[in-house]
Amino acid sequence: MSKSKSAHSALKVQKGINPPQAVNANFIRKAKASRVGVLDLDYYIQGIFKGERKILSQAITLVESAKKEHRILAEQIIEACLPKAQASIRIGITGVPGVGKSTFIEVFGKQLVDQGHRVAVLAIDPSSSKNKGSILGDKTRMEALSTEENAFIRPSPSSGSLGGVAQKTRETISLCEAAGFDIILVETVGVGQSETAVHSMVDFFLLLMLAGAGDELQGIKRGIIEMSDAIFINKADGDNLNKAKISRTQYANALHLFPQPESHWPPVADICSAVTGMGIDKVWTYILDYVNTTKANNFFYVKRQQQELFRFHEQIESKLKHYFFEDKRIIKLLKKAEEALMNNEKSAYQLAEDLMKKWHK
Ligand code: GDP
Repeated sequence: MSKSKSAHSALKVQKGINPPQAVNANFIRKAKASRVGVLDLDYYIQGIFKGERKILSQAITLVESAKKEHRILAEQIIEACLPKAQASIRIGITGVPGVGKSTFIEVFGKQLVDQGHRVAVLAIDPSSSKNKGSILGDKTRMEALSTEENAFIRPSPSSGSLGGVAQKTRETISLCEAAGFDIILVETVGVGQSETAVHSMVDFFLLLMLAGAGDELQGIKRGIIEMSDAIFINKADGDNLNKAKISRTQYANALHLFPQPESHWPPVADICSAVTGMGIDKVWTYILDYVNTTKANNFFYVKRQQQELFRFHEQIESKLKHYFFEDKRIIKLLKKAEEALMNNEKSAYQLAEDLMKKWHK
């Protein structure tokens, strides 16, 4: 009897026992090799719907994976999660390194968990895609919050362009929401492009600042201030308290100069201390007020629809890129075109145009 036949007969002997679900052996082998969670779609979906953090984590690893077979499964998981992925408040938190983001999130997150919320913390760290030394860092982050059963902390994906990282974060948000996390905190470093990406996936955008330091010093661009719904001057404690109060007034005045936001909810400037806990509860009060106001005037839903449109276009762009670079013909032609470019035979523009035409055929 052949090996495979004996395997079959062994299964048949077990009368009364439900046969295991069909799992593609090839997938299991590959998944095991890459240490990504094994098993099939049902395993992930049921686990996520039950709010199991370990399975949620494994599913996010699939979402972040560059491997084709992981990607296919990840897309099926996301698709299944989408109908359940809406009922949350998504909050973006930014500020320069050292402003106190992790300390703040630790305290803020704990407060929300104590109120009965389930809180997921995700990070977008563009620096980690360029080199291993990320700004958000390997320091042990949010130790107390991470031990809470109703909290889930996931660091930034460690590879890919900002666009790719942002797209994965967007998908991760959907999975967390399907797993019953009703508050999603997306942390990013306030020094570059990543705020715009985060802004395109959250309902409320919070900027943490330090007192006394000019905007240029803090590397914060005017655009980031303009897109913020609240600016909190952190470290308003000890000798710093008075300086923080002065900064609050300055930012409040600056915010008045901006045109009325589409949300019709005027952005606020205030102070807090992540160390003493002062003012942290006010952040939540503002956010709830914002959510109530914008749900009443419909802006909340319109913004989410716009973000879905953005996601749709982002998906098309990413798929186009994917199909193009995976096309066997293109892989061959690309090499030739690169050689032609290096030999000054044609311009980059012409070669790109030629490739596109050939792909289009
Ligand atoms: P991040 O880089 O923005 O995540 O900043 P961290 O949360 O790691 O904080 C940087 C440093 O500032 C740490 O030493 C914190 O203890 C300290 N820190 C954070 N928040 C406060 C605060 O409200 N008051 C004071 N005095 N120190 C703070």
